[in-house]
Amino acid sequence: MLCDDYKRVVYFFLDGSVSQRKAAELETHRRDCHDCDERTLVHRKLRAFVKKRLAPLSAPEHLKVRLVASLRVGD
Ligand SMILES: [Zn+2]
Repeated sequence: MLCDDYKRVVYFFLDGSVSQRKAAELETHRRDCHDCDERTLVHRKLRAFVKKRLAPLSAPEHLKVRLVASLRVGD
């Protein structure tokens, strides 16, 4: 595997959406390649950061419940 290949799929790798075989290949490359190991850590931090920042933007649970309830009124 080349670093370019790794770069292309690192997002999906962290997302857990690559096959087990692919994940194993990525792990092997990461073990041998310091750059890609670093890259993975940076991406992981970035993902955690984005997730934290986006969380307050999603509708709070009580609002969702009210919304669902109000939609049911017309039944
Ligand atoms: Zn690499």
